Amino acid sequence: MLILMKADSTENQRKTVCEKIEKLGFRPHPIPGEHSMAIGITGNDGPLEEREFMSLEGVIKCIPVTVPYKLAGKDFKPKGTEVKVGPVTFGEGHFVIIGGPCSVESEEQTIRIAKAVKKAGAQVLRGGAFKPRTSPYSFQGLGLEGLKILKKASAETGLPVISEAIDFESLDAVSEYADIIQIGARNMQNFALLQKVGKLQRPVVLKRGISATLEEWLSSAEYIMQNGNEKVILCERGIRSYDKYTRNLLDLSAVPAIKNLSHLPIIVDPSHGTGRKELITPMSKGALAVGAHGIMVEVHDRPKEALSDGHQALLPHEFEALASSVEKISSLLVP
Ligand code: PEP
Ligand code: MN
Repeated sequence: MLILMKADSTENQRKTVCEKIEKLGFRPHPIPGEHSMAIGITGNDGPLEEREFMSLEGVIKCIPVTVPYKLAGKDFKPKGTEVKVGPVTFGEGHFVIIGGPCSVESEEQTIRIAKAVKKAGAQVLRGGAFKPRTSPYSFQGLGLEGLKILKKASAETGLPVISEAIDFESLDAVSEYADIIQIGARNMQNFALLQKVGKLQRPVVLKRGISATLEEWLSSAEYIMQNGNEKVILCERGIRSYDKYTRNLLDLSAVPAIKNLSHLPIIVDPSHGTGRKELITPMSKGALAVGAHGIMVEVHDRPKEALSDGHQALLPHEFEALASSVEKISSLLVP
């Protein structure tokens, strides 16, 4: 439920409402608005009795919130959230370009590619150190050593870095070395991991699960937020479909749909979303046109030697062309 307070309600009246919510065993979330104040309630399983609150001074209205993702939902926070990572802002009016290799393979490879993506216009460097591979025989990533390399690449280029955590142990390491924690598609419903991410105050990119509905995805964001970390960025990366022509079916409609349902920033990963390098640029332009707040693209300068996903990696000059065309379009779209 969302309790709307009168514009001229006093601090004391709002405090009384919050205390009442706590007394009932739930959590109040004061939400300051431009002209008024609302107080959201979480922790209740079923609907609450309106009259419990309508009798309190300063209360105008009680609005039931029917979605299971309250903190992530628009009812609780109609204005878009901005997530800041150093000088980079994820949110409305910004289009962040993340680029880098699928995996950190060596110091030399990572620093080389980091410099190339920076020159091409990337604002954030990506690189997996803990890789959730479908086959146990595939390259599993350099682990902690990979994160240390990524940190060096960040220091050399000044780019903040994003890397994936796949379990509790890797989460401790990723949160120490990376600026943004990535929770991959395969872990979108690893609720214990989401709760642990929620206890950190580090921005997190939450990828959409391989066959997740929008409601499931936002409920996963809720797990993170409910534990105190509100710096969640959603990432559409395609869903499983029947046509194997593309690796996944990149659901660009999820972008405007999520923007109707949630205040969280949303970016698009056209690399895993299509698995075909010739589709990455058009789908990036599409992502921008439908209102995404950024893209995450895999880049490799020696794709044939790549230890993972070389077939879908853009060459640095291709990425540079993508970044510059996206920038041109973006200057037309974003006021
Ligand atoms: C990745 O971005 O490195 C990755 C593994 O993506 P996803 O979780 O979307 O498959
Ligand atoms: Mn990859």
